[in-house]
Amino acid sequence: MKFDLAYCVSLDDKLSIYDVRDLNFDETVDFDSAKEQFQCPNDACRMAFEVSNGLVTFNAKNVNYVRTPHFKNLTTTRHVTGCPYASSKAPASGSETEDGDDGREEHFPSELLLTRREYVRKPAAAETAADVRRDDPVRAEPTGAKPSAGRNTAPDKTSVFAHPVECFVSNFADKDLLKRMPLKIGEHTAPYGSFFKKVEYLLDNKGLIYWGKIKEIKDYTQSLRIDFEQKVWFKQAGEAKKKPYSVNVYLSKKLIDNYRKRKAFLEEIKHAIDSDKELFCFFYGVTPELKQVPSKKSPEQTFGVFSANIENLDHFIVREAPGLA
Ligand SMILES: [Zn+2]
Repeated sequence: MKFDLAYCVSLDDKLSIYDVRDLNFDETVDFDSAKEQFQCPNDACRMAFEVSNGLVTFNAKNVNYVRTPHFKNLTTTRHVTGCPYASSKAPASGSETEDGDDGREEHFPSELLLTRREYVRKPAAAETAADVRRDDPVRAEPTGAKPSAGRNTAPDKTSVFAHPVECFVSNFADKDLLKRMPLKIGEHTAPYGSFFKKVEYLLDNKGLIYWGKIKEIKDYTQSLRIDFEQKVWFKQAGEAKKKPYSVNVYLSKKLIDNYRKRKAFLEEIKHAIDSDKELFCFFYGVTPELKQVPSKKSPEQTFGVFSANIENLDHFIVREAPGLA
């Protein structure tokens, strides 16, 4: 049985595994999933047992995972009769045949929230609360306060980009499913299958999640440049026919240095530069546009390239994605 959510005891809240990963890598937050306790997200089930009756995480701290992260039962984990999470068999849809770690991500968030989720630390952890920094998104809860019910954290929404990306990657072979499942970001809603757009077709529509196979990552003094393998075919005004143009995105080093998940991000990039595996890049928030840049060989000449500067590293991922090639 895989869990869409688990109850995190110290935060007194239900978290997806992607929330947990985000917290683990966030250097502004005091959180380590290896020291946290997670329980069945079914309230009745959780209340019925002591805290030690918990779940474990899979791929919660591995920056460069290939297999889908999730929560899972320990062999000793108990559930109350009738708990929907109790069965080790597939849910009614019967799509999952095995209780293995190799499964696909089955919980498709219907919306990617562009504002990061905030967490409220339980007041019981008094000593820890004193250490919490003022700009820490995991805030100490004022004594007596109740968790706010109206918070925008319905289980079908996420603020972690890796979650919809994992849905797309791990279900890539199931085109019908990706056509069926809707995704909303900002004002735009489209099925997963069309919200994710190959970079070579970026002229089709603006404001989507673009992705493509990485050709090369170049490390410059002030920035990194990701070159995509595929080209955009485009006809410029006054030209007779379409010509192929390279696509790239730039990441400024300043942006990386100020990133709350800097260490994990640098690990991701280092792995990508050293790796001999096929790697893919996913990004949201900017659409590469045609720019004229000076040629290296003869700087008086320019050539056209589709390029964009990444503005938010929370919406940028480089990863292995077997099956997408
Ligand atoms: Zn349960």
